[in-house]
Amino acid sequence: MTNTLNAVVTGSTSGIGLGVATAFAAEGWNVMLNGFGNASEIEVLRAGLAEKYGVNVLYNGADMTKPDEIHTLIEEADASFGLVDVLVNNAGIQHVSPIEDFPDEKWDAIIAINLSSAFHTTKAVMAAMKQRGFGRIINIASAHGLIASPFKSAYVAAKHGIVGFTKAIALEGAEYGVTCNAICPGYVKTPLVEKQIPDTAKARGMSEQDVIEKVILAAQPTKQFVTVEQIAALAVFLCSENAAQITGAAHQIDGGWVAR
Ligand code: NAD
Repeated sequence: MTNTLNAVVTGSTSGIGLGVATAFAAEGWNVMLNGFGNASEIEVLRAGLAEKYGVNVLYNGADMTKPDEIHTLIEEADASFGLVDVLVNNAGIQHVSPIEDFPDEKWDAIIAINLSSAFHTTKAVMAAMKQRGFGRIINIASAHGLIASPFKSAYVAAKHGIVGFTKAIALEGAEYGVTCNAICPGYVKTPLVEKQIPDTAKARGMSEQDVIEKVILAAQPTKQFVTVEQIAALAVFLCSENAAQITGAAHQIDGGWVAR
């Protein structure tokens, strides 16, 4: 394993992905950012990380619902970095609604972004990782990859799917120095969670404050949000040599939620 790694982090213009990309840059690793947002704000982000940590930070705005754009992203990372050592499949969206009213297009988008994009990125990096004898693939799943909540049918299906995908890829990479793990966070206060508070309030007939106290934090025995920095630190560890024998696992980081 070389000291300087080259990483691709999907959905890294915000929230957990940005936290992971920042932690990687702080380790001295080169990073390719991806995700949506205002172009000039993303450029400030990219240039700021590159300058602060003295690393190569790229950005590719591939839409994770589009396999051809995903392939171009990996090709660009390969061409710029020479190789991709670390792939973090993080891009994700949420939609909260009873199944009777769940829009078909939201189901399709959640399966595409939260699950199928990881198939396309992993397929594009796997041969080179195996050939080199080193690779780290980290899928940002969720506590909802292990247990369910009502009104999140597509998200729970996609996240359970990615935990299964993680195990299959771990087995395929096992003899080649390529590990694949899932990180299963509980609630993290990012835009993804902030946006679902009003929808959950509507679906459950509760106030938004009650959603925070009685649904979100009630799920986590510690009664605290998980932080982006805690997830990023776990991702850095999973890339280390000490984590070489950790593969095919779903790592809960959820304040004890799934232990109930
Ligand atoms: P976020 O909304 O802050 O960030 C999501 C990122 O994905 C953004 O950069 C966004 O631009 C990008 N994205 C969305 N659609 C995309 C697309 N089609 N193509 C490319 N990029 C796209 O959300 P977050 O909370 O940081 O979530 C990141 C991941 O963590 C998701 O997979 C989510 O399911 C998972 N997760 C979040 C929580 C939580 O409580 N926030 C808990 C468990 C798991």
